[in-house]
Amino acid sequence: MSLVSPTAPFSLLPYLERAIEDDAAAGLQPLRFFNLDLERVAVPGVWRPSRLHRCMRANLYKLFDSPRDEHVTFDPVQQNNFMRGHLLGAYAAAVLRLLDGRWGFSDFVDEGIAHDEASSIGGKKDVTFRKDGVKYVVEVKSKLADIQDDMKPEKDHLLQLNEYLHAEKLPMGFLIYVGPKLVPGTKMKRLWFVEKLQRYSRELWEESHSRTLQLTWFRRDPSRLAPATGSRWNECPTCPWRESCERGLSPLQLDSGLSVLL
Ligand code: SF4
Repeated sequence: MSLVSPTAPFSLLPYLERAIEDDAAAGLQPLRFFNLDLERVAVPGVWRPSRLHRCMRANLYKLFDSPRDEHVTFDPVQQNNFMRGHLLGAYAAAVLRLLDGRWGFSDFVDEGIAHDEASSIGGKKDVTFRKDGVKYVVEVKSKLADIQDDMKPEKDHLLQLNEYLHAEKLPMGFLIYVGPKLVPGTKMKRLWFVEKLQRYSRELWEESHSRTLQLTWFRRDPSRLAPATGSRWNECPTCPWRESCERGLSPLQLDSGLSVLL
């Protein structure tokens, strides 16, 4: 397979197809690197890329560990979404690791820590690897609905990947959607990938940075009530602070033991 110049955009998919084919021919189990990685590790920083752009008020309730509403009901759909994301994230990481040591690919790491001290953004990158010596971050997002190559990446996903690129000072990364994908020329589907190669964006970073500054202002004084910016469709229905939010209670009103950080 021909090598491309180190920083030129390239597609992972032809390499993955070839690796699986070669392994099948060699009788190797393609999911031999599957690892659910259930180990909990301490992640530095205050703001998590996975929820930085979700509801501001819920971000502060979570940060202050505000008591949850009494009547919080277990949400099986939310739990199932979490399990699906974890499972398909591990599936994607296992398939990507098949490239390790082939065609210039190396140094695969799952769930490595990314931390930008200045903005206090900290989180776990799904996968990082090197291609011809150049390091890339991969952010994996699972989908239940069919995925297509021309699908538009979601803004929150681009922001999250860009935050990892900023923290790691890297020029490019991959956003990978994993889900049911039609096999070209057939009516059959398989669990496969759609990849979006993203270059680091200063503009997206400014948006993330400004968000951390806004949240930090509320963090300094728990009597301040952050805006309720949650989505009424996919955040509020399962929010454990819904009643407190509707009553307009600040973290300090929920927990008088909190101190002002001004
Ligand atoms: S109910 Fe909605 S708006 Fe209120 S804190 Fe929860 S997610 Fe945010």
